[in-house]
Amino acid sequence: MRYFAILISLAAVLFFIASPTFAAPPDNPLSNVPERSGLYDDPDHPGIKVRVIVHPEKPNQTSNSVLVCSLDDPDSSAVVSPEAWHLPSNWTYNLNPSSVPSSVGVGSSTLSTMAGNGFADWSSAISGKVNFLRGTDTSIARSAYDSKNIIAWGRTQGTALGVTYIRYYTSSGLAVDVDTIMNKKFSWKWSNSNSCAFDDAYDAENVLTHEIGHWLGLDDEYDVIFTDNTMFGYADKGEVKKNTLTTGDILGAQSIYP
Ligand SMILES: [Zn+2]
Repeated sequence: MRYFAILISLAAVLFFIASPTFAAPPDNPLSNVPERSGLYDDPDHPGIKVRVIVHPEKPNQTSNSVLVCSLDDPDSSAVVSPEAWHLPSNWTYNLNPSSVPSSVGVGSSTLSTMAGNGFADWSSAISGKVNFLRGTDTSIARSAYDSKNIIAWGRTQGTALGVTYIRYYTSSGLAVDVDTIMNKKFSWKWSNSNSCAFDDAYDAENVLTHEIGHWLGLDDEYDVIFTDNTMFGYADKGEVKKNTLTTGDILGAQSIYP
C-alpha cells in the first residue's frame, strides 16, 4: 500500500433555519469561520452553525512523475452512510475553467469533461433522479451563498486538498448552495483514464468525483472496509480508483434518492 496522504475534503456545512421565504444571500457568510476542524457559531448569523472538517496532507512525499498504468480498481460492498442533505431533482453547476492549474490541462474542455464524467457517474447511480445541468461558467473561486454551485481551484485552508461547502435547510434537508474549492497549492494532474495516473500528483477527476458524492449527500468514510470506495476519506497521489463508483457508493446514493 502506498502512502496514505491526505485527504480529501474539508466539508463545511452550514445549517439554515427553515423559513417560508429565502432571505437574501449574506455578503460573506464565512468571514469569521476558522478553517480548522470543529463546529462553530457564525457570529454574523445567529442560529446558523458551520461544520468544518480538515484533512491534512501527509508531508514529505516522493516525486518522480511517472504515469503508472494497470492500476487496481476493486469493487466494495461497504455501503456509504447518508448525511442530512439532498439535492433537488434539477441542479445547475457552474465551472471556473480559468482556475484550472495548467498541470491539469489547458483549454476550456478540461474541467467540463472531468466534472461531466463525475456528475454522469453519480446521476447514473441514482437512475437520473438528479438531473445535473451545466450553467454558465464563472470566475468565482471561493464559496458563497450566491445561487451559484461552483467547482473551482482556489485558496483554501492550507493543508486541505479540497473543500466542499453544503448549505441546506435543516427542516427539509434540501440543499440550497453547494461549492467545491480545490486547493491550488497542491500538485494536480489529470490522466483522463480510469486505470492510469501520474504518481507525483493528485488526479483531479479522482478527487472531484469524491467531492461530488458530498454534493449528493454522502459522508466521508474512514473505516478500512471502505478503502476502495469513492467516498473513502483519504486520497493518494497516483490514484484514480475513485473515478468509478463501487457498489457500496451506489447503494449509499440510492438510499438518499430511492
Ligand atoms: Zn470527503
